Amino acid sequence: SAADPVVEVDDLTVRYGAAVALDGVALRLHAGEMVAIIGPNGAGKSTLVNAICGLLKPAAGRIAVRGRTALVPEGRQLFAPLSVDDNLRLGAWRRRDRDTSQVYHLLPELVPLRHRRAGLLSGGEQQMVAFGRALMARPDVLVIDEMSLGLAPLIIDTLAGHLRRRHAADGLAVLLIEQNARLALDLCTRGYVLEAGRVVAEGTSAELADSPAVADAYLGAA
Ligand code: ATP
Repeated sequence: SAADPVVEVDDLTVRYGAAVALDGVALRLHAGEMVAIIGPNGAGKSTLVNAICGLLKPAAGRIAVRGRTALVPEGRQLFAPLSVDDNLRLGAWRRRDRDTSQVYHLLPELVPLRHRRAGLLSGGEQQMVAFGRALMARPDVLVIDEMSLGLAPLIIDTLAGHLRRRHAADGLAVLLIEQNARLALDLCTRGYVLEAGRVVAEGTSAELADSPAVADAYLGAA
């Protein structure tokens, strides 16, 4: 039904050889939600993203996704020799319709860059292309891995504004993986805290921001 989660993860365990990267993780993402996953380096955030997107096989547990996921990967992973326009079109490789006009409308900064080689763009511009490329897949679920990593505050604000606007337009379900907890809790209504492969806290963004453990570890001393 419409009330069913678009992403449902239960008791998920992922191993790399003998190392346990995720240990019994459960989460829900409902249609129209924007949900944060925060946690320190090595907590298993990228592993969780890759499992949800079907890029790696769990040792145990269940992942159910309703509809199409698109990933904005950590490190952007653009095709450096190709133009911005070609990178965007590659996001629609599963679709017949490769019209980029909606993406350029949402991300006007990319319009003057459309014929530039992606590899020559700034980090922020590349992150915008990676975002646009994911939108070209017309996803039901957008998964964003470390959008803010290494970017200046001004470009992070710009990206966050575009994401917020895109989400507001049609309630696209978003799973936002962030080391920048303040940004994540600001953008999202709910979140999960992942530490050493386990969910150690979950709640509304307000609850998480007020929880001493989260505030001390992720938001800095007030
Ligand atoms: P970061 O923010 O640093 O990317 P993360 O929260 O995304 O961290 P993961 O990259 O998912 O964490 O890593 C979780 C754990 O699994 C870490 O201990 C990491 O060293 C380990 N790990 C990740 N990928 C591999 C791999 N391909 N082989 C072996 N161990 C891995």
